Amino acid sequence: MKCPVCRATYRPVNETPSCRRCGADLSPLIQIHDQAVWHYRQAIQLVKAGDYAAAQTQNNRALALHYNNADFHALAGQVWALQGEFQLASAAWKQALKLEPLHPVACSCLRILTELSQGDIFRLTESDLG
Ligand SMILES: [Zn+2]
Repeated sequence: MKCPVCRATYRPVNETPSCRRCGADLSPLIQIHDQAVWHYRQAIQLVKAGDYAAAQTQNNRALALHYNNADFHALAGQVWALQGEFQLASAAWKQALKLEPLHPVACSCLRILTELSQGDIFRLTESDLG
């Protein structure tokens, strides 16, 4: 999370909800961020439970509160992929990588998707079977 005033990266130190550099009160932002993370965690639970539609609703709420979070976009991609929407999944992972170029989930998912779309699905299956 970045301070909207001076763009310093905020890290929760000593529970102080203010920017270390410029002193701006960041507590409203932190509240929104916490709320977004709550929705994101709900979404993960729903994915595990197999309820992808509900997971998507929760993750969309997280994104509405905090759009510039690579984790939320990466999860959106996974939820799309689980529903067979690979173009939308790919777009979500690319958005995650725009925000965080080395995001591990988005990187590996996009790579797998690219390999699949290049017809390597059979090679992958064979190597998976050993
Ligand atoms: Zn600041």
